[in-house]
Amino acid sequence: MKIENNIEEFESLGDDHIGTSFDTPLRRDAFKLSNEEKIDIIKDDVRHIMETLGLDLTDDSLNGTPNRVAKMFVKEIFGGLDPKKKPSASTFENKYKYGEMLVEKNITVYSTCEHHLLPIVGKAHIAYISNGSVVGLSKMNRIVDYYAKRPQVQERLTIQIVKELQEVLKTQDVACVIDAKHLCVNSRGIRDVDCSTVTSEFGGKFKEETTRREFLDYIKLETKF
Ligand SMILES: [Zn+2]
Repeated sequence: MKIENNIEEFESLGDDHIGTSFDTPLRRDAFKLSNEEKIDIIKDDVRHIMETLGLDLTDDSLNGTPNRVAKMFVKEIFGGLDPKKKPSASTFENKYKYGEMLVEKNITVYSTCEHHLLPIVGKAHIAYISNGSVVGLSKMNRIVDYYAKRPQVQERLTIQIVKELQEVLKTQDVACVIDAKHLCVNSRGIRDVDCSTVTSEFGGKFKEETTRREFLDYIKLETKF
């Protein structure tokens, strides 16, 4: 009885998209199996789901799906679970002595909701104020992509991006805003096609009203070239 209650509790938690931890909840044995071993197991699991749904996997069109999905899970959409894929932490000296805010906006986010395993699609906007070192611009896209390629909740993704950049840049002055659509909200359940979710994390100077406002104003600038 207790277990059933817990399951219900977890299910309603998931449906409300409430995350419980800043770190992606991983099992201790998460990396004992090789990627190839994982693909092999997941392939059978996907086949099992499809067959349970009543699909005929001898059909040419469905035949390759279990393997395709397994490879996509391990190597692509959940590839960011693998710490080996974490972008290298290289920084450069801030030679220009540029002391203002740097904003990288409209970074495409493709992630997956960990409660429904459906896509999250949106944009991330990142800002930092250099403390002596800078990162290559594409590094920010890579960091977003690395943490996005996991089963995620948007709040955790936002925090993970900020924490990573704070560590790499050795400053607390990092901020991130994500505006994203969750297909589990847009295409099923409440089916609100137009709604999107905005999350933000402001570190260091970005906690101050003027700095935060400046960042948010830059995000609002229309980008047309
Ligand atoms: Zn969801």
